[in-house]
Amino acid sequence: MKQNEGRLQTGEHILAKIIEDKITDAKTGFVKFEEDYGLVEFNSKEDLRKLDIKELQDEVNHIIQKNLPVHISIKDKKEVEKEVDMRKVPNCVQEVRIVDIEGFDKRPCKDPHVDNTNEIGNFIILKIKRVGNNRYRFTFKVSSKA
Ligand SMILES: [Zn+2]
Repeated sequence: MKQNEGRLQTGEHILAKIIEDKITDAKTGFVKFEEDYGLVEFNSKEDLRKLDIKELQDEVNHIIQKNLPVHISIKDKKEVEKEVDMRKVPNCVQEVRIVDIEGFDKRPCKDPHVDNTNEIGNFIILKIKRVGNNRYRFTFKVSSKA
């Protein structure tokens, strides 16, 4: 596991949930995590470059500061498909690993995460770039709390 991956991953879930709530047609696509930054792409007909980066960042950090516990569980796909978006899970998969940020968001993910949002630190959105037709890439990093 890369040093900051759990923090970046968990921050990415929070950002994705906020974008999906704000932009009705937004769908989370490709994600990638490097040593010190991460990126996530969204598909949307809206121009996501018009979003206010500072405002979004504040919304993510507001959730982080709630110190929400993060629960990981393995569930039968049929059991959770009503409450969790399974579009990114292949059809052949029967059991899914659910990452549950308590009271905020649940989504399937197989990667490492932190146990509480307060471990993420400060979430910083570096840029929003258009990378294709209706595709926008958000680059972000996390920094320790001062
Ligand atoms: Zn994840």
